[in-house]
Amino acid sequence: MSTFRFQALAQTAGRKPVKFEELERKSAIFGSNVFNDKAMRQFLTQDAYQGVKDAIQHGKKIDRKLADYIALGMKEWALSKGVTHYTHWFQPLTGTTAEKHDAFFETSYDGSDPVEKFGGGQLVQQEPDASSFPNGGIRNTFEARGYTAWDPTSPAFIFGTTLCIPTVFISYTGEALDYKTPLLRALSAVDDAASSVCRYFDKNVKKVTATLGWEQEYFLIDSALANSRPDILMTGRTLLGHTSAKGQQLDDHYFGSIPTRVLSYMRELEYECMLLGIPVKTRHNEVAPNQFELAPIFEETNLAVDHNSLLMDVMQKVAERHDFKVLFHEKPFKGVNGSGKHNNWSLATDTGVNLLGPGKTPMSNLQFLTFFINTIKAVDTYEELMRAAIATASNDHRLGANEAPPAIISVFIGQQLTKVLAELEGVSAGKLSPEEKTDLKLNVVGKIPDVLLDNTDRNRTSPFAFTGNKFEFRAVGSTANCANAMTTLNSIVAKQLIDFKKSVDALIEEKDMKKDDAIFNVLREYIKETKNILFEGDGYSEAWEIEAGKRGLSNHKTTPKALKAKVSEKAIALFSELKVMNHVEVEARYEIELEEYTKKIQIEGRVLGDIARNHVVPTAIRYQNLLIENVKGLKDIFGSEYETIAKEQISLIREISGHIEGITSKVEEMTEERKKANNLSNSEEMAVAYCDNVKPYFEIIREHCDKLELLVDDEIWTLTKYRELLFTK
Ligand code: ADP
Ligand code: MG
Repeated sequence: MSTFRFQALAQTAGRKPVKFEELERKSAIFGSNVFNDKAMRQFLTQDAYQGVKDAIQHGKKIDRKLADYIALGMKEWALSKGVTHYTHWFQPLTGTTAEKHDAFFETSYDGSDPVEKFGGGQLVQQEPDASSFPNGGIRNTFEARGYTAWDPTSPAFIFGTTLCIPTVFISYTGEALDYKTPLLRALSAVDDAASSVCRYFDKNVKKVTATLGWEQEYFLIDSALANSRPDILMTGRTLLGHTSAKGQQLDDHYFGSIPTRVLSYMRELEYECMLLGIPVKTRHNEVAPNQFELAPIFEETNLAVDHNSLLMDVMQKVAERHDFKVLFHEKPFKGVNGSGKHNNWSLATDTGVNLLGPGKTPMSNLQFLTFFINTIKAVDTYEELMRAAIATASNDHRLGANEAPPAIISVFIGQQLTKVLAELEGVSAGKLSPEEKTDLKLNVVGKIPDVLLDNTDRNRTSPFAFTGNKFEFRAVGSTANCANAMTTLNSIVAKQLIDFKKSVDALIEEKDMKKDDAIFNVLREYIKETKNILFEGDGYSEAWEIEAGKRGLSNHKTTPKALKAKVSEKAIALFSELKVMNHVEVEARYEIELEEYTKKIQIEGRVLGDIARNHVVPTAIRYQNLLIENVKGLKDIFGSEYETIAKEQISLIREISGHIEGITSKVEEMTEERKKANNLSNSEEMAVAYCDNVKPYFEIIREHCDKLELLVDDEIWTLTKYRELLFTK
C-alpha cells in the first residue's frame, strides 16, 4: 500500500541520528551571537556604551545622535559575523514572533556607491506594514500604522545571517499591540512597589528585578509521520486516533535514557541556544512517550520571556535538520500527558537578595515572609485573573484533566510554612511586647531556614506552588508566551505590595507603632484573610472541586468563561492604576483572545469534519466492500449455510455502517452549529457558541472514527496511528 501513512513509515524506518558534535565548551561560546556587554565594549565608543547601560539600568532615553553611534557599532559587529540583514524582532498578539528582514545593503538612486548602512533611525524605530496583526479594534483602518521601538533591555542577537533587534510593538496612538509592552510596564510597577517595601529592611535597595525560569515541555515526532497527519499539520494536535495499547502506564519513559536521535537533536539545539545566550541547563524525558523537557537557568523576566519565544522558534528550526517536528500543543495526544510550561518566579534585589529565599537573620526572614505572604494575598485577591492569564483553547484540554493543575487556582506552601503562618496568626493585635517579639524572632521567624531545607514535599497537583525559594506557576500552557502570565503575576504582586505599604505606613503614623510591629500586624491580618486560597491536598480530586466551590474559588473550565475576568472592573482598575494597560488595551486583548479561541475551534471543527468524511469514511467503506465481497463469496460456496459462517463479517458490516452513519450525521450537525455560531455578531457569544455547541461534537465524531480504526484492516488504514507517532524513536 502506498498511502501517505506507509510512505511515511518507510521513510522513518530508515532514519539515522543526524550527527552533531560540539566543537567547543558551552562556556566558551555562550552569547557569542549576542550584542552583549563584551561585544558592546569592543564595538561601541565609551559614550555609546554608557548610553546603552544607562538605558538598561535606569531607563534613560537614548537620543538620536547616540543611537547613530550605537547603530554603527552594532552594524560593524554584525558584519564581522557575516550578517547581511537586520530586523526588528517583536511579539505580536498572534502568539509567535514577527520579523521582516531588510538588507544592510544600499546604493544611490542610480545604482552607484553600494554600501552597507544601518543608522540610529533604523535601530530605534520602524514602521512595519503590520495592519494584519491582531489589534482587537485598536487600530482603525484609517490609522492602521503600528510602530516597533527598540527595547535596549533585551540585547540584539544574530540568528542565521540576520541581526535581530528586540522591540516593542505599539499603535500610532501609543497602545500596546504586543506582549512585551505591558510586561515591561508590569515589571517596572513591581520594581517600584517591591523596592519601597524592601527599604523597610534595607535602605540600600534601589531596584527589584522579577526573575523567571520557565520549563518548556514538548513532544518530538518524526517529521514524516507528523506531516502524514492533516490534523497535526493544521492544528498541532491529533483530533482522532485510538490510544495505543501501550501508553505511559509503565512509566518507562520518564527520566529514562534519552533516545539517540533525540539526544543528537538536543545537543545541536543546546549549541544554538548557547550562541544566542539562552542559558539552557536541564534536559530530560517527560512522562508521555516522545515527550521531553528543557529548562534554563532563570533570568530577568523580560529577557527570559524573549528567550523562551526565541527558543520555540529555534527548536522548530533545529528539528527540521533532524527530521523531527516539535509539538508545543498542550494536548497533542489523547490518553497520555499533555505539556505545560511551569513559570518559576521570584523577586531579587540589586543588593543580591532573593526575596522569596529565606535569609540568615530574623530580619531578613521577616522580609522573606513579607514577600511570601503578600504574594499569597495577591493570588487570593486576583485568582480569577490568574486563571484568565493562562486561558486558551489548547490549555483547556490540560487544566483539570487530572495530569495538570486544575482550573481552580490555589496556592501550595508545604507543611512547614503552613505551621509558620499558623504561629504568626497568633501574634497579638497592636504593639508587641518585647518578650513576644523576641520569641517570634527566635522561634518562628528565626527558624525558617532550617525548616525550608527539610521542606521537600512537592505537590504536583497545585497550579501555584512555593518550591523553597520561588513560586512556580504551573498552570501555564506549553504554547503560551510567558509574558501573559508574567504581566498578570507581577501586576497583582505590585498592586498588593503598594496596598501593604499603605497599611504598614498607616499603622506606623496613626497608631505610633514600630515598623516591625506594624509589619507583623498587617501580615497577621493577611494570614487570616487568605486561608481560602491555600490548599495542600490533591488538586485532582473531586473532593477539592466541591471544597473549592464552598470556599468561593472560581472554577472556570473553559476559556470563554475564564477570560471574562480580564475585563472585570477589578482587572481594568488594577491595570490602569499601575499603568500597565489602559481599558482600551485590556478590552482589545480580551477581544483578540476570544477571537483566537473561536478561530482555533473553528479550524479544528473543519479539519475534523474533513478527516472524518474524506479519510475515515472512504477507508471504512473500502474495507466494508471487502467484507461484502467475502460474504458474497461465502454464500456462493456454502449456500444457505453462509449465514452462520459469515456471521462475524455480517455483524462487522453492520457495525461499520453504524459508525459511518454516526460520522456523517454528526459532521453535518456540527457544520450546522458552526454556521449558526458564525452568524452571531458578538465575539463573546460566538466564542461561547463554539465552546458549548460546536466543540462537544469533537468527542462524538472522534469516538466513531476511533472505533472504525479498531475494526478496519490495518493495511488500508490511511492515518498514521498513535503507536507509530508515539513510539517511533
Ligand atoms: P523542578 O521544578 O523541575 O523540580 P527546579 O526547582 O530545580 O526544577 O527548578 C526549575 C526552574 O526554576 C529552573 O528553570 C530554575 O532556573 C528556576 N529557578 C530557580 N530559582 C529561581 C528564582 N529565584 N527565580 C526564578 N526561577 C528560578
Ligand atoms: Mg518545575
